[in-house]
Amino acid sequence: MSTEDRNDKFRQAPSDGTERTGWPTHFVAVFWISFGGLSLIAAIIAVTALMIGHLREQELEKNRNALRNTVVLLARHFDQRFTGFEAVERSLATELGQQIASPDQFATAVSSENFHKLLRSRINDSGDLGEVSLYDSEGNCVASSVAWPVERTNIADRRYFQSFTTAPASSPTAIELVHNGSSPAIVVARKIVAQNGQLLGLVTKRVAAEDVESFLAAIAPPNAALSLFHQNGTLLARSPRETRSLGQDFSASPLYAAAAANGGQVTAQFISPFDGVERIASVRYLDHYPLAVLATITTSTVLSDWLGQARLYGFGAAAIAAVALLTLGFVVHHLRRQHQHLEMAVNNMKQGLLLFDRSERLIICNRSYIDMFGLSPQLVKPGCSLQAIIAHRLETGSLVGSVDMHCEPIRAAAKRGIATQALARTRDGRWMQIMNQPVARGGWVSTIEDVTEQREYQERISRLANYDLVTELPNRSYFLERLETELRDCSTTKVALLFLDIDEFKSVNDLLGHHVGDALLRNIGRALQDCLAPGDFLARLGGDEFAVLTRYSGEESAVEPFLAKIYASLRTSHGCGGFNLAVDASIGVAIAPLHGRTSEQLLQNADLAMYEAKSSGKRGFRFFEPGMERRARDRRMLEQDLRRALDRAEIEVHFQPLVGLATGAITGFEALARWNHPERGVVSPAEFIPVAEQSGLIELLGEHVLRVACKQAATWPAQIKVAVNVSPAQFKTGVLPLKVASALAAAGLMPGRLELEITEAVLIKDDHSALETLHQLRALGVRLALDDFGTGYSSLSYLSKFPFDKIKIDRSFVATLTEGRKSIGIVRAVIALAAEHQMATTAEGVETEQQRDILRALECDEFQGFLVSSARPAAEIAAMLEAAQNEHAAA
Ligand code: C2E
Ligand code: CA
Ligand code: CA
Repeated sequence: MSTEDRNDKFRQAPSDGTERTGWPTHFVAVFWISFGGLSLIAAIIAVTALMIGHLREQELEKNRNALRNTVVLLARHFDQRFTGFEAVERSLATELGQQIASPDQFATAVSSENFHKLLRSRINDSGDLGEVSLYDSEGNCVASSVAWPVERTNIADRRYFQSFTTAPASSPTAIELVHNGSSPAIVVARKIVAQNGQLLGLVTKRVAAEDVESFLAAIAPPNAALSLFHQNGTLLARSPRETRSLGQDFSASPLYAAAAANGGQVTAQFISPFDGVERIASVRYLDHYPLAVLATITTSTVLSDWLGQARLYGFGAAAIAAVALLTLGFVVHHLRRQHQHLEMAVNNMKQGLLLFDRSERLIICNRSYIDMFGLSPQLVKPGCSLQAIIAHRLETGSLVGSVDMHCEPIRAAAKRGIATQALARTRDGRWMQIMNQPVARGGWVSTIEDVTEQREYQERISRLANYDLVTELPNRSYFLERLETELRDCSTTKVALLFLDIDEFKSVNDLLGHHVGDALLRNIGRALQDCLAPGDFLARLGGDEFAVLTRYSGEESAVEPFLAKIYASLRTSHGCGGFNLAVDASIGVAIAPLHGRTSEQLLQNADLAMYEAKSSGKRGFRFFEPGMERRARDRRMLEQDLRRALDRAEIEVHFQPLVGLATGAITGFEALARWNHPERGVVSPAEFIPVAEQSGLIELLGEHVLRVACKQAATWPAQIKVAVNVSPAQFKTGVLPLKVASALAAAGLMPGRLELEITEAVLIKDDHSALETLHQLRALGVRLALDDFGTGYSSLSYLSKFPFDKIKIDRSFVATLTEGRKSIGIVRAVIALAAEHQMATTAEGVETEQQRDILRALECDEFQGFLVSSARPAAEIAAMLEAAQNEHAAA
């Protein structure tokens, strides 16, 4: 499917284990192969059967023809033979009938020896053997071709004799089988009638059945039986011989009836009345005599050869059929196995799979697809249309929209033969990758894969690459990427880049631990996020630096309400790790495209603006100005100049006096670095000290000031101390005590006269090495003062960490002393606290007498400030001390 929707909902598919996938193509293939194979086998069997049947029929026909030919020849043969018999009889009967008038005459005439001889010669002339006899009208034998005188026999009981005597109109001839003793014979009788019509006697021709039978045996085709019948059904002769049946009446046989009905000739199969065996028979009547010849052969004999052949063919066909069947079985089995494997593979794949044909009918659908969307396997099955599936999915809620909306894109892509790919979100938040691949000859394959895990994994990877793990905000690289795109299309609206640096974050992190620091960062992230409008982009660039991209139009000042919102949000306290912390930030703002067209330039300019905001007292924002770039460049140049100045020992040390409030006498001097730049003029330490700290030059500078200060102090009266500022950077190396000791030794100054001023920044790191260094310094005998007290984040807490000798109250408190009770309260508290810990107090930046008087009233120990003097070159100190002493003495 091409377009899933966001509202897909999965339902648990019923796991009834029923086969949900149909394979019509497979079944069609199996069906046609089976059908073809079985048809082939059936055809083989049918053709073989037909062939065998045909052979059988051929064999039968061949034999029928042979039998038919045989009976035709036989009938002709017997017709001729009997005609021959009859010719003798007829001539005798005719002659005798003409010459003789009465039966008595007849008997006398024919019983003479002469007649016997005549008879013999006649028979010999006819070329035919056999016996010819004459009988008188009483049936007595009166002459014979065989013997003279004749044996006295009587045939009055014979059927033919009776027919001649009783029916004068009957046929002049008769044929009959007679049993004369043991040898049956066929008798052909002819009546002899006088001219007056009186029966004189009869002449018979007698042929031994045996003779006929041996003739039949001689000419009979192999396995055939030949018979001579009287047309009345009486068997006259048969080969092979059937003695018992001779003379028997077979007129009841159907064959007899068939011959009679068929004009005397018929060829047919019938059950033999002799032995009950089936035979082929051919019957033919003789043309001139009431006789019939019959040739038969048993069907089994006829078909014995055929049977062998048929068996051979049958066996051959069966073998071929068996081989075909086996092959078919194998092919079908193979197909089924293949199908099962394919089905197994398709159903066990994780992806949903659908195959459609060109007419958008489903051909294959696997179980995963059904399960994936909780569809009905009864409905989604091969043959079902794309539309029906979409409709079903809309109905079951795994798609929304209309049928056409989903069908059309698939149809269009399939028509153009192009593959499509889509990613869709289901209602329960899973991601589905859908691919539609057209297939040859129309149709397409759709695969649907659940890529949720893959995507989640990718998202995780991209989160790692693009997000900050602490705040879960976009990181620097993601921010730059976003900035690039914003810059590409910031032609119409302006984009402001806010570069935020959290003020004093380092203190929190160092003092309260990283977990609190991290919690604070997360809180800050959330607070900033709450300020964002849609389309704004927030990132953590690293450390305590955040950046925001926001679009605006009109003047730069349009960004200010947004900045105000950010400050308000940051300044409300954040509960983290058991602490309630309110933070502040220095923000630099750069506008695109005004302040930069590339991401690097814009970010750098925002950074510069932030730097300026930070260095001008923090807690505020600055828009980028072209001058900032110059100033930054200047800072870099300043660094180079400073390096050179240090090399050339151009850095001087001036001294500002510290005065006891109770006595008014100078108690010491603070050494302050001074740089008189050949081109720039006097450069303030507030400007070059940070540069020195950042560049690492502070070590050299610090050492230089320390040595010069010690050396000068050694020239002052013994009660006058010297105070030297030490930068936190000087603590890093751990060699500070060594350098201090070395400077004291080089100057020959008592350690008790040297006072090191350190700021709380030294202790912020909370590492043991800084504390250790402090203790080492204390062990050297130098005094330690906590400088700029009250400006830092948590000044009070440092007092308990290390026992300082002095607290220097920051001039910001002194400056506001006269403005109200609040400052006085704070200063009073500090002084009390210091006294409690046996620490001295020095107030800085005293410019007026009023300030001095208040401090005195508060029992501050000493002060310094322009009221007495600014820092002066070393050369002026001796005179200053002298003047002060004189003044003091005068007072
Ligand atoms: P800081 O240690 O607080 O030094 C006192 C600063 O207050 C000096 O500024 C001094 O000139 C100024 N000051 C003194 N009296 C008055 C006053 O009545 N009113 C006003 N407004 N200011 C007064 P400077 O010399 O410009 O030094 C600035 C900062 O530079 C110093 O502050 C100190 O932190 C640093 N610094 C100066 N020299 C050195 C140095 O040799 N080493 C180190 N590490 N830092 C130094
Ligand atoms: Ca100082
Ligand atoms: Ca100070």
